[in-house]
Amino acid sequence: MKRYAVLAALAIAAYQLIPAGGWWTSGWQFAIGCLGVAGILAGAHRLSRRERLPWWCFAFGVGANVTGIPVSIYCVDVLGWQGLPTPADPLFLLLYPSCAAGLALLIRRREPRRNRTAMVDAATITTGLGLLAWVYVIKPAAIGQNIDMLGRAVQAAYPIGDLLLLALMTRLLRGDGRRGAPFWWITGSLAAFLAGDTAWVLVGSIPQVSDAIEKVQWASRSIDMIFLTAYVLFGLGALHTDAREVGAASSPHPARLGRVHLTLLAVASLIAPGLLAVQLAHGRVTDGWAIVSCCTVLFLLVVTRMAQLLRQVERQAAQVRDLARRDELTGLPNRRVWNEDLPRALDFARRDGRPMTVALLDLDHFKAFNDTYGHPAGDRLLKEASAAWHGALRSVDLLARYGGEEFVVLLPDAGEDEARQIVERALAVTPQGQTFSAGVAVWDGSETPDQLVARADAALYEAKAAGRNRVMA
Ligand code: GH3
Ligand code: MG
Ligand code: MG
Repeated sequence: MKRYAVLAALAIAAYQLIPAGGWWTSGWQFAIGCLGVAGILAGAHRLSRRERLPWWCFAFGVGANVTGIPVSIYCVDVLGWQGLPTPADPLFLLLYPSCAAGLALLIRRREPRRNRTAMVDAATITTGLGLLAWVYVIKPAAIGQNIDMLGRAVQAAYPIGDLLLLALMTRLLRGDGRRGAPFWWITGSLAAFLAGDTAWVLVGSIPQVSDAIEKVQWASRSIDMIFLTAYVLFGLGALHTDAREVGAASSPHPARLGRVHLTLLAVASLIAPGLLAVQLAHGRVTDGWAIVSCCTVLFLLVVTRMAQLLRQVERQAAQVRDLARRDELTGLPNRRVWNEDLPRALDFARRDGRPMTVALLDLDHFKAFNDTYGHPAGDRLLKEASAAWHGALRSVDLLARYGGEEFVVLLPDAGEDEARQIVERALAVTPQGQTFSAGVAVWDGSETPDQLVARADAALYEAKAAGRNRVMA
């Protein structure tokens, strides 16, 4: 790969030194293009069959584009073909759909689950820049004079192809997945194609500049070199030892929205009103409908993005709430839930004049169990026991982990006898032949939650003192 990079860099640099003349420059460009295609094919060859497909798409697109170079010079210099389109144009244009297909495949493989936020971001940037492309490039090309319909369509197809690549490139950049060197070589290559096309558009749209560039050899060759760089960057990406990773599946991450991304999104969203301001300042709004359409799409995209973020926040808030209320080991409500629910339950009981009972459970000799079977076995017992107890209790009862191997049960509408029976039922199903001691306290209608639990604790202490494996009220 290093030798390939050196060879490519030398070949590109030497492009400035070759003799003038269409056949020389085209031949040189063609050779470097072939170097790019060879790099992609050689790199793809080392990958598994399934992994090759996107790279073959790239190779086909670049190959077609490169073939267009000699075809173009043949049509112009040998056949004396005038005007657009030439048979080279379809070849040049094949670059866009082929690379887009390769990129789409890569994106699908990197992110097996659909990534809507990345899609919205890519759409926002593409819509904003698409308006500029429409107003300054596509529309002038489409209504251009002194060429026929087909020629205009072909001219307009180039910027549309660029927009397609831009959409997929921003989608790739906003998505998840590994970003090693080959990832950046590919994005660099795409960026170079886009930069090259943009440079030609800029040069072409200012007659003085285009005249000047025609005369200054190194300047026009510099623009060609952008495309030459694009060809070999693809090859470099494919030849990299980690090329496989570009198409490797990744687990989804919540979309990051850094300052650069936010700025880009803001700039893209402001292009439409900015353009309107420019046209107003010039006294004539020539692209009102295009601006209206673009603004509408952008507003909808921004609202969609906002909805996505809000939903993400809501989802995460629910997760946090759930995490904060659940005991990690047993999945039972934790002490925080207990502390919130007990006073509320006592309020309801007071209002309705119904009994309310609390039981405190503590596994017997759990330290010894841990010491004998190990801590993980102790954890398993806690899990199994809490599940078993949960099954033995009534559906209205609230079982919570109070801490360590202590649990609390809230038994609404249960008096002392019923509560004792229920807790004894739970004692009977304690797994692995283990037992617990429990203290039951019936609320007297006036005491505080703390006082009630303290009484249950005192009863538990008595149960332990009386020999464990029992329920005391
Ligand atoms: P007693 O019958 O008097 O209740 O004796 P005991 O050994 O159950 O009581 P003690 O309070 O002395 O020990 C409780 C033990 O529970 C000590 C601690 O290591 C263990 N323990 C507390 N939380 C956990 C846990 O989450 N997992 C495991 N495996 N052990 C725990
Ligand atoms: Mg204890
Ligand atoms: Mg214990």
